[in-house]
Amino acid sequence: MLKKGTCIVAGSALFLGLGLVPANAVGNGPDFNGNETINTSILHTHESMAAELQKQDAKQPAMELEVIGQSVKGRDLFLAKYLSDPDNPTIMFLTQQHGNEQLTTEGTLEVIKHLGSGRMKGVLENVNILIVPMLNPDGAMGDVDFPLDDYIASGDRHLTRYNANNQDINRDHVAKTQPEIQALHNNVLSTYDIDYMIDLHHQGARSAVDGKLVSGSILYPTTPDVSEEVREGSKRLGAVVYQNVDRTGWGHLGKYVGGTANTIARNGIAAEYGISTLLFEMRGMSDHSNPDYVLGQKSNGYLRQQTILTLESTIKAVADGSVETIDTSMWDSLPEQERLPGEADDE
Ligand SMILES: [Zn+2]
Repeated sequence: MLKKGTCIVAGSALFLGLGLVPANAVGNGPDFNGNETINTSILHTHESMAAELQKQDAKQPAMELEVIGQSVKGRDLFLAKYLSDPDNPTIMFLTQQHGNEQLTTEGTLEVIKHLGSGRMKGVLENVNILIVPMLNPDGAMGDVDFPLDDYIASGDRHLTRYNANNQDINRDHVAKTQPEIQALHNNVLSTYDIDYMIDLHHQGARSAVDGKLVSGSILYPTTPDVSEEVREGSKRLGAVVYQNVDRTGWGHLGKYVGGTANTIARNGIAAEYGISTLLFEMRGMSDHSNPDYVLGQKSNGYLRQQTILTLESTIKAVADGSVETIDTSMWDSLPEQERLPGEADDE
């Protein structure tokens, strides 16, 4: 959503105060400046994603693909399952509740391929994995009942945050009015005994920590309605992500500044099911009406890599049990990110 004029003025002052220029973007990914290409044609469509999932399902004995429901416009919603032993701990990954946040789905599809390639051999015996990619396919395909004429990206389609009913489905985890959210709750969250979950998003392109634009931000549930045990699990999951991502040349993480409402997955799913959730907001969206939100596609490589590293490092840490003992003191020193021009509550 566009911010009010006053907020943009205040944000601009902050932006200048930190001495940031877009050329300093992490990962050598320049911001969108009206010249750089953002072409949505390079992203998977819902149809090509479905074809890839079906191909992997046919190829991988350990994988089972299930349709958990349909979107407003009737697109299939998928669950990719790796259930080796009911006694194993279970980790779940959710992508693209917001349709214009697609690189998390692109990275997740790579992880699914890796799980069948032998690269993660041995790991799968000790962990159950549930993956729900592209929960908002109508928004991702721009097949919605409201105009997207002012969106920036070129290509075959526009991508939008909202579902076809113009609803933000990551505000629907209590009321559960939208079919995408009903499918997720009825056929995944209520059905499986899940220990950990990462909810993957993209935020605006101009958040910073220590004067440097971040590659992403993370946060545990902040609702008062979860036990300390669940919240500690979330902090340990976040510590695994931080340890693996922040040490890379392109990784630079901040603490997301988010609300306490249970309508949001990070809070609501932790409160309702006792799952240790983590929000991961990666930098820059695939399409938007506001140029401060989108990133040029030169950043796609490291953002896709950030997703792959996040998923594979947490899968390994849950499988080998190291997620149970990791030190969480990084949370005490992790700076909250600063919101720069155009930033709003994106979660
Ligand atoms: Zn989002």
